Amino acid sequence: MEGLMQDWPLLVHTILDHAAKYHGDREVVSRSVEGPIHRCTYRDIDRRSRKLASALSKRGVELGDILGTMAWNGYRHMETWYAVMGLGAVVHTVNPRLFADQLDYIINHGEDELFFLDLTFVPVLEKIQDTIPKVKSFIIMTDEEHMPDTSLREAVCYETLLAEGDGDFQWPSFDENTASTMCYTSGTTGNPKGVLYSHRSNVLHAMAVCAGDALALKSTDTIMPVVPMFHANAWSLVFSTPMSGAKFVLPGAQMDGASIYELLDTEKVTFTAAVPTIWLMLLQHLEQTGEKLPALERVVIGGSACPPAMIETFERNYDAQVIHAWGMTETSPLGTLCVTKGGLEDLDADAAWQIKLKQGRVPYTVDLRIEDDDGNALAWDGKAFGHLKIKGPGVAKGYFKSEGGDILDRDGFFSTGDVSTMDEHGYMQITDRSKDVIKSGGEWISSIDLENIAVGHPDVTEAAVVGIAHPKWDERPLLVIVRREGSEVSGEDVLKFMDGKIAKWWMPDDVAFVDEIPHTATGKISKLHLRQQFEGYVLPTANAAE
Ligand code: AMP
Repeated sequence: MEGLMQDWPLLVHTILDHAAKYHGDREVVSRSVEGPIHRCTYRDIDRRSRKLASALSKRGVELGDILGTMAWNGYRHMETWYAVMGLGAVVHTVNPRLFADQLDYIINHGEDELFFLDLTFVPVLEKIQDTIPKVKSFIIMTDEEHMPDTSLREAVCYETLLAEGDGDFQWPSFDENTASTMCYTSGTTGNPKGVLYSHRSNVLHAMAVCAGDALALKSTDTIMPVVPMFHANAWSLVFSTPMSGAKFVLPGAQMDGASIYELLDTEKVTFTAAVPTIWLMLLQHLEQTGEKLPALERVVIGGSACPPAMIETFERNYDAQVIHAWGMTETSPLGTLCVTKGGLEDLDADAAWQIKLKQGRVPYTVDLRIEDDDGNALAWDGKAFGHLKIKGPGVAKGYFKSEGGDILDRDGFFSTGDVSTMDEHGYMQITDRSKDVIKSGGEWISSIDLENIAVGHPDVTEAAVVGIAHPKWDERPLLVIVRREGSEVSGEDVLKFMDGKIAKWWMPDDVAFVDEIPHTATGKISKLHLRQQFEGYVLPTANAAE
């Protein structure tokens, strides 16, 4: 027997409908690429998204088309998302930090026909436009006054296009499983692969993320995603913020510590999210200036492991709660969030702190497993570590155009490529990426654990650990460090600091100092480039072993 409830497909434009109707006056504040701070409301975004959708549909955009964007977090980018998805077409966000050949590959593979870009990226696309022939027209996200002189073919001014549309445009209805957004994985091995989200997966993920035991987003919040919209849907915040009715702050192109501080301060941001490298810049700025952030309540840190020292600094010096989160492009992206759990209120301070450092526990809609190499389930004791697998309505079941083939196991779980533990309370902790774990004498050493301890030293700004070939042990850890400006700290000092905090055999065999640690397009430490940089490196312990 079927239930007698209404059929209300989970389409993303219903989120904007809700925000415009019930939180219509709430502000959307953007640092525009042209310079000034731009202010509008959800009501404005709704009307302009409808206008844009109407203009695009007059130009022939329809269900199933794929449109590319290369843009910062800003109101025009948000309108473009809602307009394109509202038509049943797909927004393909392209990460501008990728290398030119990866950009070509992704734009061609995604078959983007129309391409939206911020002014910043006009030179980037001018350079590659001949190698992306399928793009028929480039829409530059600015007004007539700021339109550049460009060689881009069929270049259209965004505001001129929008003016062709009708603000009363009615969204078409279609199946909630229709594709809505597409993001390519970072692709450290082989070509990047397209993850194709659906309306249903985006809406369910946003609802799960809003929940009290997840990010607990409220209409009284002011939310600023520093994480870009081209990095796994800005961790859902372009959906979950209007869903909650919170004020929205979009930081645009400037992500240095001073610019981020300025917006956090002037807009009284209560909730923000980004990768650790962004917070490193902000914390350095705060330390230099002595400024505080009294309005800030919660900081989500994810994308790579958050060092304990960073959690401590936010919580102790700035009175802001850190929510450590883990996820992947393939998982919408939020898979786990480190929030307190009912029943654990009486843990002593040390035990509570150890939990706080973990990547967290799942919201409803996510299921996890850890397995050994033979696929046997491992104990949830916080010690056994193995391959982390994930399942849920926000997890990919395949890649665009079936690249990579079948990606689910017999039970429908996706293998994350991460190695982790699970504890008895269901908290997950990442040990390492399986490719980055250091295999020493048949045992594993977590590069993340070593990095976390090393950055706790006051003279270490950033640390990375890679495995270096060793004649006796297969691999041994090399610690690579960026010193704090002006510091002369030695490798010996840092190792002495680490002594006693880890098992003796985990101690790095050597320390190398660099001016900069390479990062990927999404701000993670690029172990691939570090391994290339230190290829052939001879550890001092290697000769002794021979
Ligand atoms: P991406 O799909 O590019 O966002 O990368 C996903 C990968 O980033 C995961 O599989 C993890 O290896 C890593 N990652 C994300 N969040 C965390 C975290 N909080 N701690 C450690 N690694 C993380």
